[in-house]
Amino acid sequence: MTKIRILDPDTVNQIAAGEVVERPASVAKELLENAIDAGATSILLDVGSDMAGVTKIRVTDDGAGMTAKEALLAFHPHATSKIQDIADLSTVRTLGFRGEALASIAAVAEVTLVTRPRGAGALAGTRVVVRGGEVVETGDVGAPEGTTIAVEHLFYNTPARRKFLKSRNTELAHLYGVVENLSLAHRGIAFRVVHNGKERMAVQRSGELIATIAGLYGADLARALVPVRGRLPFLSIGGYVSRPSESRGNPSQVVISINGRSISSRPIAAAVREGYGTLLPKDRYPVAFIDLAIDTDLVDVNVHPTKREVRLSREREILAAVAAAVEEALLGHDLAGATPAEPVQQVLTGERPEAAPAAREAEAAYAAGHRDIARSDRQLRRTEGEGEENLLPAMEPVGQVAATYIVAEGVDGTLYLIDQHAAHERILYDQVAERRDAAPGSQELIMPVVLSLPPKESAALRDAMPFLAEEGFEVEEFGRDTFAVRAVPAALGVMEDPESIRETIADILAGESRTTPGRREAVTCIVACRGAVKAGTLLTHDQQRRLLSQLARTKTPWTCPHGRPTVVAFDRRRLDGMFGR
Ligand code: ADP
Ligand code: MG
Repeated sequence: MTKIRILDPDTVNQIAAGEVVERPASVAKELLENAIDAGATSILLDVGSDMAGVTKIRVTDDGAGMTAKEALLAFHPHATSKIQDIADLSTVRTLGFRGEALASIAAVAEVTLVTRPRGAGALAGTRVVVRGGEVVETGDVGAPEGTTIAVEHLFYNTPARRKFLKSRNTELAHLYGVVENLSLAHRGIAFRVVHNGKERMAVQRSGELIATIAGLYGADLARALVPVRGRLPFLSIGGYVSRPSESRGNPSQVVISINGRSISSRPIAAAVREGYGTLLPKDRYPVAFIDLAIDTDLVDVNVHPTKREVRLSREREILAAVAAAVEEALLGHDLAGATPAEPVQQVLTGERPEAAPAAREAEAAYAAGHRDIARSDRQLRRTEGEGEENLLPAMEPVGQVAATYIVAEGVDGTLYLIDQHAAHERILYDQVAERRDAAPGSQELIMPVVLSLPPKESAALRDAMPFLAEEGFEVEEFGRDTFAVRAVPAALGVMEDPESIRETIADILAGESRTTPGRREAVTCIVACRGAVKAGTLLTHDQQRRLLSQLARTKTPWTCPHGRPTVVAFDRRRLDGMFGR
């Protein structure tokens, strides 16, 4: 940490001004944030109260501490070690930067500071007592490295403010809420809360969000959550959202942090809710813990003195990405039961439970199967259509062989084997070809897909950009060998799966330099192949049935776009013959 200095008046004028000391919880928040900024790994909040309300708030940390000189300077208005001028705000990573909290608190209370700088070889610590803004005591004192700040007689000189405090229990609840939010955002720090000598909260240092959640709210809630992940070049999304079965009547359990700052944001909470679509009734809200890491120059923290709100540049993209990530997380999970992919207990203890290798393999296969089924569902949904035509005989799927061929029975006892990939390729190809002429132009992706390519391939992509644009791909280069795909040809229909977009473009690049009509044909083929349900993928009975009925509605259901068969049939006579009947 750099030295504390007093900000110049120009900078001061540009910083969101206002009172931050409203109630005991806001005092605790400021002190805890200072401890976090000081690099503490362990923080204790000790609260005292009597019938009338909170009487003492004391925070002890093992952070960087202060020298005697700094300890005095810290109480000056606009004294901060965290920024030097307004320009620093665009890169600030600390929670504080206004240099006002200690001064404001000391103006309306009695504050006792005991501190000793870490690793500085100082023989003694410093003790400073400030009351109503006046330093009433300073001196050396024996002290451990780190800082303890105790606040007593809060609002003793502002009776009007004191009168507005709610009941003791309400104030304590706010206080615990502050610690919850900070501990969720700072998993590398152990937090302990003691009230009137009794331990009320103890959050272990774990590093894992899910472990902190389990520690705060119990393993049952943690088990009801599914992990969320998402990425844009300037944003990374992490966290957990609840299965739809675990919902709330209000959005207060949608917990959001941006760059380690616990914030409240209606738009982001709404985006999380949007990711559930119709999975939740209109008046229900999920439980969610969303961590956003956003390039600091896109986050304006200088909006409100309590720093609970931030302003985001590129907000629209960020909100869309959050909604898409939540949707993706829910699609990829078995929403009814437990998720074998993420046993909470394991994360909590940091060790794997004893499991035979075979059991572990089965567990992994089971989880992989679920992901496959969710992906196939997206792929099949994309090709769901109206259409009356039925060019295939009526048949009912019986099952799958090698997760590659669907086995079906015809009404007349014919046995059909259907190549699931070839069949879906046919379906996609027909649809894309039909729409290609009917619906030229582009379709914007909800969430841009980012391609980071090796230099050689990015050169190829750069060359192909005009052609891709002609086809309806909107690709933008925004960094060294990094590209964002913002739109795809409208003819491709709903195509949000980043993997298949990435593969499609790679395939197009590999087969470039053709004449325009031939090229267009090739693109259609590639799209059909890439978007199709893969061989070796488990399909549910319902998915098998949907695939067959979609196939029946194509004009040439018996062959794939490459001319290979999609369906082979063994009629009853042939079967009987094979068995010598
Ligand atoms: P800000 O956090 O906005 O800088 P504060 O008034 O909260 O302003 O604190 C003023 C300064 O005092 C901080 O910048 C920091 O250098 C120092 N300080 C406050 N609390 C601590 C602490 N717990 N450990 C070390 N330094 C601290
Ligand atoms: Mg501060």
